[in-house]
Amino acid sequence: MVTGGGVRAVVWDIDDTLFDYTGANDAAAREHFAAEGLPAGPAELARWTAVMHEHYARYLTGELTFDEQRRERVRAFLGEPELPGEVAAAWFERFGVRMRAAWRLYPDVVPALDALTPRYRHGLLSNSNSAHQDDKLRRLGVRDRFEVLLCSEELGHAKPAPEAFEAACAAMCLEPAQVAYIGDQRITDAEAATAAGLHGIWLDRAASADGAGVRHRITTLAALPALLAALGD
Ligand SMILES: [Mg+2]
Repeated sequence: MVTGGGVRAVVWDIDDTLFDYTGANDAAAREHFAAEGLPAGPAELARWTAVMHEHYARYLTGELTFDEQRRERVRAFLGEPELPGEVAAAWFERFGVRMRAAWRLYPDVVPALDALTPRYRHGLLSNSNSAHQDDKLRRLGVRDRFEVLLCSEELGHAKPAPEAFEAACAAMCLEPAQVAYIGDQRITDAEAATAAGLHGIWLDRAASADGAGVRHRITTLAALPALLAALGD
């Protein structure tokens, strides 16, 4: 364990932090619904997103496997609870092809990594499945910028549980006070990381007005080097 010396590493959230999950999901869903002969308006998009949140939460509690939550999302969205698993999986995979084609890093990610490296080490902590996120980061060309990738499925702990953040620090042989955690979710990422003893940073890309009470908030990764410098060496 390395002790002292201020912030040594940044641990990053992935979806909607490094990668525009919401934008990719919306674009892919619109194309997919149209290709399936379904309405593809705002109401359908909102329902698809609500169904995603509902069943992804069941995955994070361990109630469903990663693949089961995908099938359940399809059944719920189509209103066909008895839809056979292979049919639901194939429907989701047709969406998945479009989703992967829409994957993009936010344009401020690589410049921020360049500016922060080698002064800071980098890791990843995501509420997801490691194989899925590893594939995503390799396709996006940034997997090798991060020393470790920890995901809730393999850890057995999902953010906001402190154990998830503690595991990320342990994987980098650092104390929580030596690690900054950055993510797009104010409570699940920033406040939970702070509660676990890390420097929690909320990446509020929408520059929402609801930033009160958050210790560290930035609206672009371009502001991250200065914030980390202000946290001290
Ligand atoms: Mg996120």
